[in-house]
Parts: sequence; structure tokens; C-alpha cells
Amino acid sequence: MIELKNVSKSYGKTTVLQNISFTVNPGEFVCITGPSGAGKSTLLHLLTGAETVTKGSIEIDGVNLNIVPPGALQIFRQRLGIVFQDYKLLKNRTIAENIAFPLEVCGVPDSDIAKRVRTVLKLVELTKHADSLPSEISGGEKARAAVGRAVVHDPMIILADEPTGNIDPNQSKTILNLFNEIHASGTTIILATHDTALVDALNTRVIELSDGAIVRDSVGGYKGKKPKAEKHDILEEDADEGNDKKKKVKVTAIS
Ligand code: ADP
Repeated sequence: MIELKNVSKSYGKTTVLQNISFTVNPGEFVCITGPSGAGKSTLLHLLTGAETVTKGSIEIDGVNLNIVPPGALQIFRQRLGIVFQDYKLLKNRTIAENIAFPLEVCGVPDSDIAKRVRTVLKLVELTKHADSLPSEISGGEKARAAVGRAVVHDPMIILADEPTGNIDPNQSKTILNLFNEIHASGTTIILATHDTALVDALNTRVIELSDGAIVRDSVGGYKGKKPKAEKHDILEEDADEGNDKKKKVKVTAIS
């Protein structure tokens, strides 16, 4: 179980997350959403232990991240699978070697690594690119390789930061199916995205952030409605039904 209690995060005088509290049960699939700058990545960084809270506490499967010593944090991280926003694939390693990496860190024997990597390459449909370097594959393939590397060691929790941020809608659909497949096997998934279409398609629990605070925690997508969390002011004409006098109103839109 993941439990955040009154978590705030500040950088100097800037408060990026304020008073965040929620619980995620094992096996849940949660989308963290909201516009660019809302605090999604920061929240994921806190969950990975890469950053520490300014106030409040985070406990994951009994590990209190506020007080965990560095050695134990390393071991705790082996329970996580992380898909980074820019994928962070190792440039000089092949796709198979990139996917193998977490298993090497966990000290898995070579013969088991080879078997597991073959299975994961198949899952993410990259078998034919096993020996390619990251520079030799497309954006969508890179995203799939990153998902493969995140799941290879069978983590309890997957944290994914904008996994479809740099790919076309068709590729996004493939990634979405992959996450659904991984979730069906019992893995907890926390996926940060500003992509409302993806949130609609997933139709999971949604925790929506706006300016670092939770403005929604409920199940379901947006279904064409504007999200509450909004960023840039724009002007839009609002045609009042039954009233032909049009008025200018201020609305906002996600970035
Ligand atoms: P999102 O992922 O929703 O786009 P982020 O978590 O990346 O949002 O950023 C939220 C806010 O925190 C932004 O205004 C960003 O500039 C600020 N921020 C993030 N990291 C730092 C940092 N290391 N130092 C100062 N400000 C930061």
C-alpha cells in the first residue's frame, strides 16, 4: 500500500506540492493528471525516493521514505519499475541490454536474465530490435523499451512519467494496452500524464493536480468535459442558450 499524509514539497520559497494525501491499494491503477507544471513529476520523484518531502510523510509497503537509510532505499527501489519521462535508455547498450539492466542490478544469474529478457522483448514487441541501439529505433519503440525495462524484474509498483509524451496516438494506444496488460497481472500502476485522451481511454482512478494541490480524486476519464485543473487563460465566446447576446468569458485550457 502507498500512503501519503499531508505531503508538501518546496524548492526554496516555491511550494510545488501542498498538503497531498491519498492512499493507493495494491493492484490499483491510478492516473496522476493535471496540466504541465501542476506537480506530477515532482510527486513521482517523491514516490521513487529521488526527492524528499518538505512536510508530511510517504509510506510504501511499510517503508517510511522519510526515514529510510540510503542502503535500504536502494533495496526498496528494486520493488519499483520506473518509466522516466525521457526514457533514460543507456545509449551504448542494445535494447536487450537496456532491458536486462535492472536484473543485473538485482544480481539475477545470466541464464535467467537471458530468458526473462526474451519474454519481455516479446511482450513489448521488440524482439527484432533486441540488438539495436536506442538511436536506431523510433520514439514509440523507445517508449516500449522503457516499459520493458520497467517491468523486467516483476516490480510490485510501476511509476510512469508521461510515457506517451513524445509519441503519436497509434503508438500511445500500444503503450496503453501494455499498461493494461501489466496491470491485469496484479501490478500497481501510477501513471502521470497531462494527456486527457489517454486518461479517458484508461478510465481508471484519476488524481488530478492543479498548482500542486489535489482537485479531484475519482474514477473515470474526462469524456470530453474540460478538466478542472487548468493553466493558461484564454478568451472564448460563450453562447448563452436562449440568449442571442454573446458575452466574452474567461476560461482556461490545459497546456
Ligand atoms: P508537471 O510534471 O506536472 O509538469 P513538475 O512536477 O515538473 O510538474 O513541476 C511543478 C513545478 O515545480 C514547476 O513549476 C517547476 O518549475 C517546479 N520545479 C520542479 N522541480 C524543481 C526544482 N528542482 N527546483 C525548483 N522548481 C522546481
